[in-house]
Amino acid sequence: MKKKSNNNSTYVSTDLIDRKWIDVNIPCRTACPIMTDIPGYIQAIMEGDYETAFRINRMDNVLPGVLGRICNRPCEPVCRHGRDGLGDPVSICFLKRSAADFGMRNFKPDIKPIDKKVCIIGGGPAGLTAANDLALKGYRVTILEQFDRPGGMLSCGIPQFRLPYDVVAGDVKSITDLGVEIKTGYRVNNEAEIEKLKKEYDAVLLAGGCQVAKVVDIPGIESPGVYWGLDFMIAANRGSPGIGNSLVDSSMKKVVVTGGGFTAVDCARMAYRLGAKEVALAYRRTKDDMYVTANELEAMEAEGIQLAFLVSPVGIESKEGRVTGISFEHNRIDKSDRTITPIAGSEFLMEADSVIFAIGQEAEEEIIKEGSGKPADNFFVAGDFRSGASTVIEAAADGRKAGKEIHRFLSHSEGYRDVVTIFEVKETGRERAYDFIDRQPMDETPLHERRIKDKEVGLGFSKEKSLIEARRCYLCHYNFQIDIDRCIYCLACIDVMPLDCIMMSKDIRVDKDGNLHHIKTERWDEMQAITIDNDKCIRCGNCVRACPVDCISISKYTLAPHAWGSVEAAAPEAKKESFK
Ligand SMILES: Cc1cc2nc3c(=O)[nH]c(=O)nc-3n(C[C@H](O)[C@H](O)[C@H](O)COP(=O)(O)OP(=O)(O)OC[C@H]3O[C@@H](n4cnc5c(N)ncnc54)[C@H](O)[C@@H]3O)c2cc1C
Ligand code: SF4
Ligand code: SF4
Ligand code: SF4
Repeated sequence: MKKKSNNNSTYVSTDLIDRKWIDVNIPCRTACPIMTDIPGYIQAIMEGDYETAFRINRMDNVLPGVLGRICNRPCEPVCRHGRDGLGDPVSICFLKRSAADFGMRNFKPDIKPIDKKVCIIGGGPAGLTAANDLALKGYRVTILEQFDRPGGMLSCGIPQFRLPYDVVAGDVKSITDLGVEIKTGYRVNNEAEIEKLKKEYDAVLLAGGCQVAKVVDIPGIESPGVYWGLDFMIAANRGSPGIGNSLVDSSMKKVVVTGGGFTAVDCARMAYRLGAKEVALAYRRTKDDMYVTANELEAMEAEGIQLAFLVSPVGIESKEGRVTGISFEHNRIDKSDRTITPIAGSEFLMEADSVIFAIGQEAEEEIIKEGSGKPADNFFVAGDFRSGASTVIEAAADGRKAGKEIHRFLSHSEGYRDVVTIFEVKETGRERAYDFIDRQPMDETPLHERRIKDKEVGLGFSKEKSLIEARRCYLCHYNFQIDIDRCIYCLACIDVMPLDCIMMSKDIRVDKDGNLHHIKTERWDEMQAITIDNDKCIRCGNCVRACPVDCISISKYTLAPHAWGSVEAAAPEAKKESFK
């Protein structure tokens, strides 16, 4: 179905072909688990309109301030600007932060209430996203959160030097503004309590995350001075001593952390801030296998944290009631399947007065031992509790999926469908010169101030820098097409193209997904048409300006925000009134 709007230059489409065009041609958006409209908000920044940039972001992405700081960024490695010969990917994540830093507005859409109640156990990214989406549909949503504040790992695990709590609180407020009630200090302890909630509410979602640190059983593991990563982070963030085997205190001077993910790096950087003189991070695999962003790694190295790779812990040494060191053995890694094998007789000792194991977290499965653990009736499960430890954006996407399932279950309808809006435009605002701009670095707190525990390290882009960075984006949501019925084969467009983006083509066919296939030819006698390769196009507009018969069209493809998923909400521009 394709519908033209009154002004004749906008279409609303539910055709699979238009939906597929977005998947194939906007790689960053496709890689984002929640399908954030990345070129949409970057273009708004390019135009200096931070409010619109924030609005576009908030429509898809419930935690824009948070994710603009600590997202693991699956979108950046696939950015077309990062391809061979084209430079570095666009700084998608930090631009999202700029949109929130400079454009944040209250989000207060008109909501038509539905007389149905949903209970969500857990106020982390998964629970908050599901709550947001269900509240927008009109449900009465209550979140039960065991801690004294919402946010899950955002407010208890991730340290303030990466994610200040007021940023989390700002994003959470935009969800409670929709009418979502959050009851903190409320723990759901077992299946019996879940059964009670299932009777009291029309639907119950368990989004309890992974709260239990994974443990290893090696000699000496019970020694005072050994901590578990997540417990250590919670205690250090909250300033509350007494969690783990011994106090989190400022007496730690020589610290060894084992692990290779976000928690391990945070533990090492936190130990540095708690006053440790020497901190080392030891990981059983290689640096390339570490599951953290490049920024985190760079910051950790700048803070003087030593790194040891391909080593596994085998025992803890202690003396007079305190850890004195940790023994490791070296590993060998198989380059093809990445399996590791210990090297016999390679043991060595690293001296330490504190050892932190940050080797992963698991769901607290006692809450749902059997029966209700399986999604059934009016009971649903989402986020890290369902999938195992993941990332904020993956947990949020899973919360969105659960919200859709709950809406389908309670409304007995499909409820959501993908709707594409296509705007015809005359130009993109991009210039060829923008392709020569380098990726902009973000300013950081200087090293001599990094020992201050809660001081944020990343300082964000200035407005000027975000504008420069935004210009680098190719705006892949624009589709350039030649009308072959009007093309006079003058080749003026080919003469002005900056890259190999336009060609004489033969063997042209369109597959069932709407993708154009063709082969380049230099021979006039076999040429069937002049075609544009949108995968190479950098949206400079040179061809449009050069064409003497005006037969090259530009149209912008956007997807309706998934939280609404209706034809009425197709154009983000149409939802301006939701932000007051
Ligand atoms: C130290 C650390 C650093 C991290 N850094 C990053 C990062 O930089 N980038 C990134 O993308 N990801 C990071 N992660 C991972 C990310 O935080 C998680 O994947 C994400 O928060 C999972 O979201 P969730 O909603 O599923 O669970 P959680 O965030 O864990 O939230 C679950 C909530 O449920 C509550 N709860 C649990 N059980 C109950 C119960 N029985 N009753 C009531 N309430 C309950 C918990 O208190 C918690 O608030 C990090 C994790 C840690 C631990
Ligand atoms: S150039 Fe822009 S729109 Fe294209 S993939 Fe990169 S960030 Fe996304
Ligand atoms: S806008 Fe035209 S000339 Fe510019 S890169 Fe795209 S196809 Fe080539
Ligand atoms: S400039 Fe226009 S008319 Fe000439 S070949 Fe290109 S698309 Fe066809």
